[in-house]
Amino acid sequence: MSSSNTGIEWTDKTWNPTTGCNKVSPGCRYCYAEALTERFTNNFPQGFKLTLHPDRLEQPKKWRTPSRIFVNSMSDLFHKDVPFEYLQEIFAVMRETPWHIYQILTKRDQNLAELAPKLEWAKNIWMGVSVENQQYTSRIDALRQVSARVRFLSCEPLLGSLRLDLTGIDWVIVGGESGHHHRRMNPEWAREILYQTREANVAFFFKQWGGHHSKVGGRMLDDFIWNEMPAVWYEHVNKWQKQELTRHQKSYRLEQRCSISAK
Ligand code: SF4
Repeated sequence: MSSSNTGIEWTDKTWNPTTGCNKVSPGCRYCYAEALTERFTNNFPQGFKLTLHPDRLEQPKKWRTPSRIFVNSMSDLFHKDVPFEYLQEIFAVMRETPWHIYQILTKRDQNLAELAPKLEWAKNIWMGVSVENQQYTSRIDALRQVSARVRFLSCEPLLGSLRLDLTGIDWVIVGGESGHHHRRMNPEWAREILYQTREANVAFFFKQWGGHHSKVGGRMLDDFIWNEMPAVWYEHVNKWQKQELTRHQKSYRLEQRCSISAK
């Protein structure tokens, strides 16, 4: 379970150069990453303890198809126990694979605010924060200061009504909680966010209603499936057409051969 295609609707793959985390706010209460580590103990011998996986750093270079990659679905990249040098290595891999889009999501806005100015942000690195209720909208202020090309919010699990300042925000994802202990999302909360994105001209993605299983409630909000993506995603897809991708990957393979023969 080191990396894989995923059922998460707003991305294509997950990449976990770290796993493990600890809880910081009410949205973490029934963390699915923690549940997975408890269920698949052979795959996670360290349990939910923050663990680095340097052997996974190069994985995205082997994925040929331009993809949206959710970085650290099993952790939080801005966790305090992720060494800054390791974070820089992850950012270097993202810069070296411009045919992918990387989607980073954190709840640790203070670490993000401190470290983001020291990192090199390429166009293919998108940054988001989770906002589950009004108390945590201050995370958006930290996000606004990050020089990522796309800044996004994940309002999942949505636990309350939100009044959002969407200045400088490109994309909002909304979803209800799933699992045995799921906390029900009031449809009005989702609708309010949809209306705010319409007013602010921001892309809106409705991921799921939630329930005992993530798919059980479906994805329709007011008779419509909201799958909007930031406009730059479509530009990215157009740009990385097969010919360009092949050229870039050939040059990567050549670099690999050179570095192997130099050893
Ligand atoms: S920050 Fe994310 S990965 Fe970490 S405990 Fe909370 S929900 Fe789980």
